[in-house]
Amino acid sequence: MSVAAVVQNTDDQELTDGFHLIIDALKLNGVKTIYGVPGIPVTDFGRMAQAEGIRVISFRHEQNAGYAASIAGFLTKQPGICLTVSAPGFLNGLTALAHATTNCFPMILISGSSEREIVDLQQGDYEEMDQLAVAKTMCKAAYRVLHAQDIGIGVARAIRAAVSGRPGGVYLDLPAKLFGQVMDAAAGEKSLVKVIDAAPAQIPAPESVKRALDVLKSAKKPLIILGKGAAYAQADDALKALIEKSGIPFLPMSMAKGILPDTHPQCAGAARSTVLKDSDVVMVIGARLNWLLSHGKGKAWGDAPKKFIQIDIEPKEMDSNVEIVAPVVGDIGSCVTALLNGMGDKWTPAASDWTTAVTTKKNDNITKMAPKLRNNNTPMDYYGALGVLRDVIKERPDAIFVNEGANTLDLARGVVDMYKPRKRLDVGTWGIMGIGQGYSIAAAIETGKPVLALEGDSAFGFSGMEVETIARYNLPVCIVIFNNDGIYRGTDVNPTGSGDPAPTVFVKGARYDKMMEAFGGIGANVTTPDELRRAVNEAMDSGKPTLINAVIDPGAGSESGRIGNLNPQSVVKKKK
Ligand code: ADP
Ligand code: MG
Repeated sequence: MSVAAVVQNTDDQELTDGFHLIIDALKLNGVKTIYGVPGIPVTDFGRMAQAEGIRVISFRHEQNAGYAASIAGFLTKQPGICLTVSAPGFLNGLTALAHATTNCFPMILISGSSEREIVDLQQGDYEEMDQLAVAKTMCKAAYRVLHAQDIGIGVARAIRAAVSGRPGGVYLDLPAKLFGQVMDAAAGEKSLVKVIDAAPAQIPAPESVKRALDVLKSAKKPLIILGKGAAYAQADDALKALIEKSGIPFLPMSMAKGILPDTHPQCAGAARSTVLKDSDVVMVIGARLNWLLSHGKGKAWGDAPKKFIQIDIEPKEMDSNVEIVAPVVGDIGSCVTALLNGMGDKWTPAASDWTTAVTTKKNDNITKMAPKLRNNNTPMDYYGALGVLRDVIKERPDAIFVNEGANTLDLARGVVDMYKPRKRLDVGTWGIMGIGQGYSIAAAIETGKPVLALEGDSAFGFSGMEVETIARYNLPVCIVIFNNDGIYRGTDVNPTGSGDPAPTVFVKGARYDKMMEAFGGIGANVTTPDELRRAVNEAMDSGKPTLINAVIDPGAGSESGRIGNLNPQSVVKKKK
């Protein structure tokens, strides 16, 4: 018997309503957690969902709940669910929905909305907005349910749209009136849909596999690039087998780090510029040749002609930036398995002059970096502090590492080695600031593992209030803030000499650790690598919500981190 049997009318006919049908539909499809912010018209819905055994995590701002849902989708291959109130709450959640879509994470933003009749005549309803029309341009699919008997179908369509093919964000619009709509309980139960095989395997065409293997065979200096699509696919064993059998150096994109350990002999992470420049055949697996890979052309890729093989579930991705001579369209698990089978037993691994050259370059770079990471400078610079966190993750390879910031992101990406798949979660395709707390919360809840979140002081500010959420749910999250007093650097001055600070600087010597203490968690202020090590280890051992304010030299950062080239700067000096 479903939970639907709650209202009884005089004829003894069992009734249900929108509230119950939505909850039943979600539960039927395995939804265990909802991330959201309560309010009109979804307050009672949240309460009832909790009463029915769904975990309902209430945030302080919808954007953070949305980021949580998006990364839950990445981690589990099930759509993460975000619940928001109408108009402003919806818009706050929409940034995260667009982020999920851009990053190919499955997510459903469920939002309450105001009365259709009033909204469509623009008569000024409470929180009036045509949310469906707004959402459509920002996500993979958008649906509205007007009748209780369509809830089952609406939820099923949303789930399928989110996870099938290239995953992405889906919007589900639920007008306030729908929640209270009453219908016969038995008919209601029948109207629910359990989605069968929501993300069916997509097997690549055999000739595309053969073509790819022929190109790979012709390579003298092959390279494999792994993207976060490869991490999402959870085809870890097949990917490992392919890479080891081929002997080809691999370069993981940031969220693909750990599919194979960064310390794997074939990992070319520390020889990135060399392998991009010198390779002749590049097999791209679950990564797009977008700005993060310099669009597959130009200076970063050198002058030597290159051939690209691309494995992706989205056929339209092929030739998006450069010619793909061997497109392999399908899900990564199926594609990689097909390639492996096609390689047979007699595959000749990549030539050793190439692999040795890559290894030599990589070892040189690692050796050069080593002393920087062991420096004991006070105030700390990025490297001294990152050397500590690198050790922490090495000793705790199961921990989830969340990372956002500018310099804090760029430098940590290179320095902190990952050892297991889907352990590094970061700003993604948009380089978005503000994912820190939402990601940490969802990562702790979805995986049950401790989380180490490394954030710049600026990045932290975008979702800082969620420290209360972390404390409230008592999550094993240790936030480390690299506090250099500002955006990029904390040293800018206002040239006019007026009272205002420069636009990139924050309060000097701010104590972010006090924020966690304010909500009953643990705070620590550290100024040396040794203190940082002690505080982080303590937090990771205790599993208590912790915020460590790590004081970094305000002069240590560089403008825009590693992407200063994207930041327009005026060369014109105005005459006084
Ligand atoms: P990165 O930022 O790590 O380079 P991107 O987000 O640019 O990665 O690319 C991820 C790619 O992976 C997208 O083109 C997406 O279509 C693809 N993808 C996601 N899931 C799968 C899957 N299961 N099988 C195949 N391709 C996938
Ligand atoms: Mg800073």
